Amino acid sequence: MTQKTYAVITYGCQMNAHDSERISGLLEDAGYRRAESGTDDADLVVFNTCAVRENADNRLYGNLGHLAPAKQRRPGMQIAVGGCMAQKDRELIVTKAPWVDVVFGTHNVGALPVLLERARVERSAQVEIREALEQFPSTLPTRRESAYAAWVSISVGCSNTCTYCIVPALRGKETDRRPGDILAEVRMLVDEGVQEVTLLGQNVNAYGLEFGDREAFAKLLRACGQVDGLRRVRFTSPHPKDFTDAVIAAMAETDNVMPSLHMPLQSGSDDVLRRMRRSYRSERFLGILDRVREAIPEAAVTTDIIVGFPGETEADFQATLDVVRQARFSGAFTFQYSIRPGTPAATMADQVPRPVVQERYERLVALQDEIAWQENLRLVGTPVEVMMATGEGRKDAATARMSGRARDNRLVHVAVGADPSARPRPGDLVEVAVTHAAPHHLVADGGVAGLVRTRGGDAYAARLAAPATVGVALGMPTLRPA
Ligand code: SAM
Ligand code: SF4
Repeated sequence: MTQKTYAVITYGCQMNAHDSERISGLLEDAGYRRAESGTDDADLVVFNTCAVRENADNRLYGNLGHLAPAKQRRPGMQIAVGGCMAQKDRELIVTKAPWVDVVFGTHNVGALPVLLERARVERSAQVEIREALEQFPSTLPTRRESAYAAWVSISVGCSNTCTYCIVPALRGKETDRRPGDILAEVRMLVDEGVQEVTLLGQNVNAYGLEFGDREAFAKLLRACGQVDGLRRVRFTSPHPKDFTDAVIAAMAETDNVMPSLHMPLQSGSDDVLRRMRRSYRSERFLGILDRVREAIPEAAVTTDIIVGFPGETEADFQATLDVVRQARFSGAFTFQYSIRPGTPAATMADQVPRPVVQERYERLVALQDEIAWQENLRLVGTPVEVMMATGEGRKDAATARMSGRARDNRLVHVAVGADPSARPRPGDLVEVAVTHAAPHHLVADGGVAGLVRTRGGDAYAARLAAPATVGVALGMPTLRPA
């Protein structure tokens, strides 16, 4: 019997990308193999969806519509929808798109293979959504996209109640994983060649509250510092309300914790923050940045900002611009407020008209780009260590450039020369000097001063040589947060 093939289409944030690695792992465990040409010839297409903003809805139904003719041509093909939209829309998905075979929620990813089989046997759509987590997803088989960098979940769900956000309703309250389990996974990954881990949670600073240890996240960072062979540790996302000085000290004193911080601001207006139910104020946010920069002067800080929250006035927006000027972010994910039915903000008075949101959004992006550019220009002439990557930026034959990430997570395009034997592999480290700066990246065209061939590069090369992974992207996918 020929092996069935699958393709997974992922929308949204790093958490979803990591969930997709589990979906792939589960399917491969169940005997599927990855389709070589994506959805065109796959026997199974899985959509791992996001519901954080409205455009995700439109994209899902649009993409399901595109698959309808393929399904008619190949009746044996199956389509499954999981993730936040599935948790939110449930039966509505098969009502709107009756050619969908399986709808599974955020709490029962592990049920996918069984549901697919049941849909096949019973010849009817299976919709199974659970209200509570069945098992911590990290216990599921995982097919990691990258040989040298890995995501590691430290918690799932979120116990905050930001009034614009649908995540708690769809992912449930925060559940923390035990430190021993997390560290065991990190060690196993490092044994396999992984050089960099990103610890994932909706609010990593709340990690440990569930089991009564306020300092658990700081301790976890320090424990990662003890893992031999682990070169880079990152995390996302910290919530300013729970940020402690112990975490800043752990970041500063743990060599492999990278000098980068992604800390969502959402708004610079205290009044908007209050109505968002984000219980810090701009002064506290800026205070954390001051302390981080005092302890780690080279730290680069990025953020998330929402424009056009209900009731946002021009003065509120000016307050956001003001914090952006003071914070000097090296990058920001900027979002236009999107109504999420069921959230408290959806029914707030004074929804801001679209054209006003658009105009403010453009002003914010222009200011932030200018600041990011100025910050990047300060690095011209300085040395940076870059971990080469695939799947993001350029791998440009004409300029012989490859891309990677500096320690502070800046994207760097590096001229690596034409000689293939002297080229770094994804996962290897290079020392370079920055020669140009743009708002969203740096360029290092002056040649590679130091090349460290890492076990991550070896692992990448070994995967490339393994027939099972032919046709598969081996890099860390580049993702914007959902
Ligand atoms: N838990 C993370 C935190 O609070 O720091 C963020 C997770 S959320 C999936 C990613 C980002 O999406 C948020 O930081 C926020 O900026 C944005 N976001 C969430 N809900 C939104 C909405 N209704 N409209 C626009 N942006 C939204
Ligand atoms: Fe949503 Fe993040 Fe707020 Fe949790 S902390 S409710 S995930 S924005």
